[in-house]
Amino acid sequence: MTTVLISGASIAGPALAYWLHRYGFEVTVVERAPELRSGGQNVDVRGAGREVARRMGLEDAIRAATTGEAGVRFVEADDRTIAAFAAGTSDSDGPTAELEILRGDLARLLVDRTADRVGYVFGDHITGLDEVDTGVHVSFAHGAPRTFDLVVAADGIRSSTRPLVLGDEAEVASLHMYTAYLTIPRTDSDSAWARWFNAPGGRTSTLRPDNVGTTRATLSFMSEPRGYERWDAAGQRDLLRHRFAGVGWEVPRILAALDHHELYFEALAQVKSPRWSAGRTAVLGDAAYCASPISGMGTSLALTGAYVLAGELATRLDHREAFAAYESIMRPYVEQAQELPPGTPRLANPRTRAGIAGFNTLLRVASRPLVQKLAGKVFSPKAERIELPIYDPSPAAV
Ligand SMILES: Cc1cc2nc3c(=O)[nH]c(=O)nc-3n(C[C@H](O)[C@H](O)[C@H](O)COP(=O)(O)OP(=O)(O)OC[C@H]3O[C@@H](n4cnc5c(N)ncnc54)[C@H](O)[C@@H]3O)c2cc1C
Repeated sequence: MTTVLISGASIAGPALAYWLHRYGFEVTVVERAPELRSGGQNVDVRGAGREVARRMGLEDAIRAATTGEAGVRFVEADDRTIAAFAAGTSDSDGPTAELEILRGDLARLLVDRTADRVGYVFGDHITGLDEVDTGVHVSFAHGAPRTFDLVVAADGIRSSTRPLVLGDEAEVASLHMYTAYLTIPRTDSDSAWARWFNAPGGRTSTLRPDNVGTTRATLSFMSEPRGYERWDAAGQRDLLRHRFAGVGWEVPRILAALDHHELYFEALAQVKSPRWSAGRTAVLGDAAYCASPISGMGTSLALTGAYVLAGELATRLDHREAFAAYESIMRPYVEQAQELPPGTPRLANPRTRAGIAGFNTLLRVASRPLVQKLAGKVFSPKAERIELPIYDPSPAAV
């Protein structure tokens, strides 16, 4: 039986574990956090990602856990609506996808589907990979060294396993924006509509409904890359208080909740790499080709990549062929997903009052019914440049 070690238990890792196990591989997943991370907001499941969820028998469970977001309202400081965009009604359109689920809920669904068949190790991470003819010797920060036939890094945009696989070949291209995500108590001003507020200085805040009685908030600001994502949580909280001091709308409410809730703080970026594998090791999901939360495609790319990588490993003669096929099927889809809408993120996060006024005018025009359809096409994620293979594997032959 082929043994596979996967690093990262969020979306890509457990989805790969699901398919590999189904095809007869023996799978272990190592996750750095001490337990499954529950943080994050609504993520979209679109296009091919949705089809993969369907093939996993997960579509109904995702629908049952959907946040029910009605759409997005862009608002003034006094909460008056500037423009409103209703949620998509089809597979892939609109700024709010029809099928949305909290990231933590989706990770939990995927892990629950695999927990009795896959070995999950929490609170550890890979520190070294040493490939020999017959496998990969892996050393860990805490556990004893082990040998696997294959290793896949699915440990996110800041993957520390990626350099062990690809050296310095992958580029993490900054989008000059930081976003902090947190969950805060729901109040009467929250509804089924997400709200988006722009303040001068390239500062943006959003509030979104969830399905568990709380509200998901973000604070974002435009900035040159300064390494804030590596600061500890206390430093990041101080930075946010400083950056958002004096901003109106519901921002004081979010700042007041900062100390009491877990913060997920990220420097927005895209990962671009000339290859996604080396020898017996490969990269998957955000670790390989993060498209950024702005794309709305990260989760769909992770689900689709996991499906294709597992299917190719199960049906090709060896891992070299499989990794090459995984890349040639996924690359056009990834490149399309990484093409962000024109002007983003600068356009939607203006620095000046005049810039905000211009953006608001654009929104008003874009929200007119006739224009909305066209704008929806321009600004919705592009998710069609892939034809999902159907895999019918004989027992794995790596
Ligand atoms: C806590 C959290 C909150 C998020 N919130 C949002 C959100 O609100 N909106 C959005 O669009 N996207 C969010 N994302 C990113 C989103 O999940 C991904 O873009 C997408 O789903 C692809 O997932 P992934 O599994 O490839 O990577 P990720 O979801 O980033 O998962 C990577 C996993 O690897 C683990 N890990 C990191 N380093 C190591 C290591 N060295 N060894 C082992 N494990 C490691 C991480 O703890 C994490 O569980 C969030 C991610 C996380 C981890």
